[in-house]
Formats: sequence, C-alpha cells, structure tokens
Amino acid sequence: MSMIQVQEARDKILSKIKVKGVEKVSLDQALGRVLAEDVISEVNNPPLDNSAMDGYALIAEDIASATPETPIQLEVVEEIAAGYSAKGALKSGQAMRIMTGAPIPTGANAVLMQEDTDKDGTFILAKDRADLEENIRKAGEDVQKGETVIKKGVTLSPAHIGMMAVVGRSQVAVGQRPTVSILSTGDEILELDQKPEGPQIYNSNGHMLAAQIRSAGGIPVYLGIAKDTEKDLMEKFEWALQSDIVVSSGGVSVGDYDLVKASLEKMGQEMLFWKVAMKPGKPLAFGRIGDKPIFGLPGNPVSSFVSFEQFVRPSLKKVMGCSDLAHPTVQAKLTRTIHKKPGRLHFLSAIVSSSDGEYTVTPAGEQGSGVLKSAANANGLLIFPLEEAEIKEGEQVAVQLLDINNPQSL
Ligand code: AMP
Ligand code: MG
Repeated sequence: MSMIQVQEARDKILSKIKVKGVEKVSLDQALGRVLAEDVISEVNNPPLDNSAMDGYALIAEDIASATPETPIQLEVVEEIAAGYSAKGALKSGQAMRIMTGAPIPTGANAVLMQEDTDKDGTFILAKDRADLEENIRKAGEDVQKGETVIKKGVTLSPAHIGMMAVVGRSQVAVGQRPTVSILSTGDEILELDQKPEGPQIYNSNGHMLAAQIRSAGGIPVYLGIAKDTEKDLMEKFEWALQSDIVVSSGGVSVGDYDLVKASLEKMGQEMLFWKVAMKPGKPLAFGRIGDKPIFGLPGNPVSSFVSFEQFVRPSLKKVMGCSDLAHPTVQAKLTRTIHKKPGRLHFLSAIVSSSDGEYTVTPAGEQGSGVLKSAANANGLLIFPLEEAEIKEGEQVAVQLLDINNPQSL
C-alpha cells in the first residue's frame, strides 16, 4: 500500500467525480444551491434616471449663485412620487418636488436636497448650489441590460437571491443535489436508541456524516450499521449503491476485522486504497462500482470528520457544479508554539478569530483522533505542513475555515 500526499489523493478523487444534472427551482428555493447558468440581466436598474433624495428637481444653472444668505426663489410646479412620472417638462425658474426613487422630469439636471431649501407657499428658496447630476441615480447605473450579474458555479447567498430579484428572475437553474448513502461499520457500534453495554459505543460518525453531507448540499441517506462480516457489509453496500455516492466509516485499517476493502473488491470495485500522509485519518479507501464513487473513511471520529472535509466535501461540491471546491483558507497568527514529527500533514482542530483585520489561531485542546470534543469546539482546521516539526508562536499558518453556516443545512 503506497503512502500518498493529501493534495494528490484529492486530485485523484476529484478526477473521477462527474457533475450531476441541472434542475430549475423557484428563486425562493435557491438559497445554498449552486448556480448552473450565468444570470444575465434583461433590464436596466434603475430603469430610468431617478432621485437619490427627497428634495427638488431643478436646473443646476438656475441656482449657481445660491447661498444661505442669497437664496434663489423657484416656483414649484409639480410633485413626483416614486412610481409616477411628471406630467410636464421643467423650465428655467421652476422646480418640482421629488421623492427618493421618483423619475427625474425632462428638463431637470439636478436634485437639491430638501434640507437645503425653505418652503415659501408655492415657491421654494434654494439655499445652496447644486452640481450637474447631483443626487441623480442614472438609468442602468446599478445593472446594465445584458450584464452578467452572477456567474455560474457560485453557491447562492441571500444577497444573490436579492440580486436575481432585482433583475426579475423568478426561476433559476441549479445543480442537482446528490444523494449520499452513509454506512457505519463495526460490531461495537450502536444506534442511539439502544442501550450500550461494555465496549459498545454510539454511532456518532453516522450522524455526523449525515450533517456534513447536508451542510455540503448533499442529501444524506442513513443506512445504519453493518456488522464486521463480509456478508453483512456486502449486503449493506448493495443497498447503498442506490444513491449517487456512498460513504462508509470504519473497517479500512489493517485490523483483522477491517473488511470494507475486501468486501468492496468482491463487489467489483475498482479500488484505490491509500495511506494518506495526514493525521488524523491515514487510511482511506476510494473507488467506484460502475461509475458510483465510494469513500471508505476511517472509523475514528475525528479522522472520519477530517477525511470527509478533505475528500468528500469537495467531491460533493464538484457533483453540484460548484466552481470553487476548496475550503476558504486564511493565514492566521499562531498563539502558541506547536510541534510534531515530520512526514505527515497534520490537521489540528482550531479556533480562529479575527481582530483589527488580522486572524489569530489557537489549537482547540487535545488533538487525538478519537477526541471529537476538540473538533466540536473548533471553527477551523490548522494546516501543519508535512515536513515541518515546529511552528513558533507568532508565525503565520494556513487555516481552513469550516463551512459551518452553509444555508443548505437549514
Ligand atoms: P476502525 O477503523 O473500524 O478500526 O475504527 C477505529 C475506531 O473508530 C474504533 O475505536 C471504533 O470503535 C471507532 N468507530 C468506528 N466507527 C465508528 C462510528 N460509526 N462511530 C463512532 N466511533 C466509531
Ligand atoms: Mg471497525
């Protein structure tokens, strides 16, 4: 079994992952989905020149010499509310009362804000001058007809939803979400409604993986727990193949009952099995039956969690057509010196915070591959590079930010 590096394993896996189809959804169902088309505006926004202020539309040249001491009188000939157009054109010596968002009348070339005027019956006194085009929002200033306002491959945020509404899109093409089977393995693993005895433990990985899949945009299909026998594993993997992707946990190391690899090979899996030079999460099985990707993740909870984040999450993003597969990564200042043996890349559960425009990062407690507590308190994974043995307090390190607030998980 060869030892390969994290990036190489990720690249090999991603090269085998295919994009799923596209579907149309209504705008209000599109949050968190991956956009499958460029959104091109068919309108100008704003549609017409309009006022950015409540005030008076007028001709800037008329009030070129206005000051508080020498105000200039203009006759108010009309009132324009948002949603209506002026009936007439504006002439020299006149003004029109205008509200924010109302169209600029023909003839006017500036809006003087209300605060710079005094009212005097049907007249106003302009107490300040105005620049040409002052307080006028030009047609198409925000969006031009024909402009691409959101690019294909983006994961849609609330502001993207707003932007599509600006240009009048009520339906949008998005990547289909993959179904993902989750199979936990191990004679010691119990469902949450069972009572543990002796060495038995709850199926934490199964539930955590379901949550990771959902937060990545996939549709989890929980298949429970397989016993450590080839027969049970093969039966349950057979069901699992009904989904687009299969993820299992446990049974991929070198123990006597680690039978995931053998079972999948008997089922005809084209198998890639690696020791990945990472910690936690060294053993990783990846392969395909037909063209269905199967991930055999390690059983230790933190290994399972971190392996999902490195290999499965980017794969799910690719399936949905996402253009950016990597976790957002920032450089952060380390708050205490850390050590390790060179030879493997370590992912440390870590707490990242930002102040004064700089990120700082602190490893989150004990880092054992069974200690999920530290991962549960973390919001990032600190990357301790393969060949490094020490990183000193105050040095900059790369930290992956975990997608904890993906709207898809709601
Ligand atoms: P394995 O890879 O099957 O040898 O499992 C490694 C460690 O992870 C063992 O201590 C298992 O008990 C534990 N483990 C395996 N699967 C799960 C699971 N679904 N939930 C929690 N712990 C697990
Ligand atoms: Mg096991």
